[in-house]
Amino acid sequence: MSKRAYNFNAGPAAVPLEVLQRAQAEFVDYHGTGMSIMEMSHRGAVYEEVHNEAQSRLLGLFGNPEGYKVLFLQGGASTQFAMLPMNLLTEGKSAGYVKTGSWANKAIAEAKLIGDTFVAASSEEDQYKSVPDLSNLQLPENTAYLHVTSNETIEGTQFSSFPDTGSVPLVVDMSSDILSRSFNLKDFGLIYAGAQKNLGPSGVTVVIAREELIQNSPKHIPTVLRYDTHTKNNSLYNTPPSFSIYMVNQVLKWIEEQGSLEGIEAKNREKAKLLYHTIDNSGGFYRGFANPDSRSIMNVTFRLQSEELEKQFVKASEQEGFVGLKGHRSVGGLRASIYNAVSYDHIKALVDFMGEFQKKNG
Ligand code: PMP
Repeated sequence: MSKRAYNFNAGPAAVPLEVLQRAQAEFVDYHGTGMSIMEMSHRGAVYEEVHNEAQSRLLGLFGNPEGYKVLFLQGGASTQFAMLPMNLLTEGKSAGYVKTGSWANKAIAEAKLIGDTFVAASSEEDQYKSVPDLSNLQLPENTAYLHVTSNETIEGTQFSSFPDTGSVPLVVDMSSDILSRSFNLKDFGLIYAGAQKNLGPSGVTVVIAREELIQNSPKHIPTVLRYDTHTKNNSLYNTPPSFSIYMVNQVLKWIEEQGSLEGIEAKNREKAKLLYHTIDNSGGFYRGFANPDSRSIMNVTFRLQSEELEKQFVKASEQEGFVGLKGHRSVGGLRASIYNAVSYDHIKALVDFMGEFQKKNG
């Protein structure tokens, strides 16, 4: 087989090689049916088994807490920015948002189109280099929900813990860190994530929610944008992205095989530690963007002394087989996205390259 790229893409991103190979093995003929899974009716028993299995694996990875349901939706996490307030930000209520950077701001902008919102906490003054302290949040009684972006993919910041919001549902955009660490699903009202980072390919968005939040949507919302439509129809109201869901199921199986979320988290922390250690011990050649107490273990953002040198870094890295190290166009700099499927060995190769690059250019 040809050499695998050192894939540090932010999303779509690396998928475990074993998953790709298993999918390849059953790509043309799924379990002796004479068809690819993508050629099958989404109303047939074979596909439905995959669909239901993916849902139960997801809940299983969170310890099967009672009262939670999984939805498979389309339109990316960006559609959730709108669907969430359409469904939960009802008359007389206001939605609280934690303003942590690029993705939180997009979520806020959409919610404002729908209803009343307020900023519950912000790190804007800190140029989004940190996440705000949420331990003493006071939420008004009419708060529809509190929205938090657990990991800001572009700035490279991440919450290490979540606030206790009492009776106010805690809603979390986990697009870039779902299943990268363990937590108690019971602490959340609703979480959502586009699949294309830690869950597989693009095309499907996962929503995991307490049933009561997705059972009764306001009547004026278009059918396909109502959570209750998808809840009542087991995410089969219309044609689901069946092949993407099949791939998510394969990735979830792979995650199960890794042992536990605690184990996955420990590996992710080791990977991030190696990379941050290299940055911090470069004598200022590499500079981390995020404040150390808010650093993400999924998206490691850093800068060099000049944009010119950053361009050279990207070019030289590409020549050595590294992919996706250029920072997001909105903030510049460099970024290594190190999701679950990126191995420690690939991080090791990256830090070796960083050392070489520094030697030549430092
Ligand atoms: N939220 C976060 C934290 C993200 O990282 C992204 C995508 N990079 C989105 C939302 C938007 O997701 P999508 O492209 O699936 O709409």
